[in-house]
Amino acid sequence: MPEATLTEVAFAVADRVEPDALVVAFTGAGLSRASGVPTFRGEGGVWDRYRPEEVASLEVLEHDPETFWRFYDHLRQVIACAVPNPGHLVLADMEEELAGEAEFMVVTQNIDRFHEQAGNSRVLKLHGDAHVYYCMTCGAEPEHVPLPAPTYPPRCLECGGVVRPDVALFGEALALHVLDAAREACIVADVLLVVGTSGVVEPAASLPYLSLAGGALVVEINPTATALTGVAHYSIQAPATTALPALWERIQGKLAERYG
Ligand code: NAD
Ligand code: ZN
Repeated sequence: MPEATLTEVAFAVADRVEPDALVVAFTGAGLSRASGVPTFRGEGGVWDRYRPEEVASLEVLEHDPETFWRFYDHLRQVIACAVPNPGHLVLADMEEELAGEAEFMVVTQNIDRFHEQAGNSRVLKLHGDAHVYYCMTCGAEPEHVPLPAPTYPPRCLECGGVVRPDVALFGEALALHVLDAAREACIVADVLLVVGTSGVVEPAASLPYLSLAGGALVVEINPTATALTGVAHYSIQAPATTALPALWERIQGKLAERYG
């Protein structure tokens, strides 16, 4: 995106920043790609041994928990070796710097916990958290499952049942209270930054449309065009790691002019 346009987007965002305003960052797997966690879909969605859409499902977990857990340990290993990238850090900086000037929160589809690691405190995790587990039989919540798992699948120490991660698998419903909170945030948002999401996984994919209907300024950041590209107010077709710092720098410049 040419320089002038990035500045234009920053000015439009800064115009919406005021004490009662809510700025929401809605993030997907593309944001964590630069950290070394591949997306499941799209270019660069490289999983050599497993096709995530085929193994990360409730059906596989229930009928072939060993295969599920071998894939899941592979994913846990990738996440364990990775750290938040400059895109995550900008969103943490936004929460801190905007405090008092606007509300800021993150709604994410990612399960890697990088937003919290980067420093964001208001994070709604639509698809759960890769580091949280529970027993499918008795509901006990082991604090930790060693990596690699001691057995495939790991077993509950209380009852011997199969332990699973507290994440939304393909074909599984999302936690309703989290989804409701995310919908509410998107409806009342004044600015929605949609970062690194293909917009094909429902119900998450519908969230930006709630913001559009609610009158928010919607800005998409994604190197590849999506269904949202044509309807968002602005679309920045660049990786989040470069686009977010560049945008934030210009927003801060504009806000400094206003307050300075
Ligand atoms: P997705 O459908 O949201 O697709 C990823 C999107 O990111 C694509 O549109 C792609 O163009 C975009 N993208 C790629 N590189 C980018 C970059 N550098 N900057 C900005 N955007 C970029 O996600 P998916 O991979 O199909 O995953 C589906 C679900 O699986 C996720 O919603 C999540 O629940 C889970 N998942 C989580 C992680 C994680 O926690 N890091 C990783 C993979 C998948
Ligand atoms: Zn149990």
